[in-house]
Amino acid sequence: MYDVIIIGGGPAGLTAAIYARRAGLSALVLEASVCGGQIVNSPQVDNYPALPNVPGWQFATQLQGQAESLGAEILTAQAQSIEKSDRCFSVSTSSGQEECRTVIIANGAAPRRLDCPGADEYFGRGVSACATCDGAFFRGKDTVVVGGGNTAFEDAEYLSALCSSVTLINRRAQFRADEQNVESLRSRENVTIMTPWVPVEVTGDGSRVTGLRIKNTDTNEEQVLSVSGVFAAIGVQPDNRRFEGLVELDPSGYIVAGEDCLTDTPGVFAAGDTRTKKLRQLVTAASDGAMAANQAAAFIRAQK
Ligand SMILES: Cc1cc2nc3c(=O)[nH]c(=O)nc-3n(C[C@H](O)[C@H](O)[C@H](O)COP(=O)(O)OP(=O)(O)OC[C@H]3O[C@@H](n4cnc5c(N)ncnc54)[C@H](O)[C@@H]3O)c2cc1C
Repeated sequence: MYDVIIIGGGPAGLTAAIYARRAGLSALVLEASVCGGQIVNSPQVDNYPALPNVPGWQFATQLQGQAESLGAEILTAQAQSIEKSDRCFSVSTSSGQEECRTVIIANGAAPRRLDCPGADEYFGRGVSACATCDGAFFRGKDTVVVGGGNTAFEDAEYLSALCSSVTLINRRAQFRADEQNVESLRSRENVTIMTPWVPVEVTGDGSRVTGLRIKNTDTNEEQVLSVSGVFAAIGVQPDNRRFEGLVELDPSGYIVAGEDCLTDTPGVFAAGDTRTKKLRQLVTAASDGAMAANQAAAFIRAQK
């Protein structure tokens, strides 16, 4: 039986593993995909203290290496459910059952999909939620990015170096992105920024995307952008329905937990983007990982 099973090998989960191991706990990290989480998709991280100008994949690799060097076990498997019994938890995974004294849920969040006709149909066939992952497929082509936050602006800037044109559309005239990102994108010659426009329909020829129908929310005017790639950068959402009943979720699906990472079930902690919080970033995910592991160690000590 493990002292702690950590669900998710992103920045929160891997930091939890580091702190758990340093506290002398046996720790298993369950990672459904590749370690590193969302940041693997970022070309450049500039705001992590003492680590300027680091590519996302490098940040992830170093973090994973640090956790493993301290003895954390990492299993590529998806956590499917958690059962609570007398003094332990049983975690069902895609590769079997694992037992533990405490659980840290650090499963993060996933990019939100566009909600318009054609978006699901053409997902992976011109519609993407990750410019860094898929941008290279659109070299020399016309693309559109939907969104107004930092991710949208960074994605559009990244694509502008590859694509013949990039149009960024946002539903509001104001952007959530930092001024620096907005100014930087505005200076790109092959970029057009359009507000206030929303996507209405992804059009295609049955096999690939051919365009995006958009609507001006002030005038109701519609037009079709002829593009081969549609990149959604409209935020992220949690995937916690599988834990409903074990821990309280807020109306948006985030696990209700404060800075102490405590959930309403003793022995189950929530860390990183998956919990209710104001700022979802690497530094706050890492902070949560440390806190959750510390809480898990305290919980185990109190039980003994
Ligand atoms: C494109 C992009 C750029 C970003 N740039 C920055 C930046 O420059 N600076 C910054 O501070 N933040 C940035 N962020 C935000 C930052 O990446 C997140 O806040 C941070 O990754 C959250 O870490 P996390 O560990 O909570 O969750 P995540 O990073 O989402 O990691 C969760 C992990 O859990 C895994 N998982 C999910 N469900 C299960 C399951 N059931 N079983 C097993 N594993 C599961 C996932 O595969 C994933 O690896 C960026 C985000 C994106 C998308």
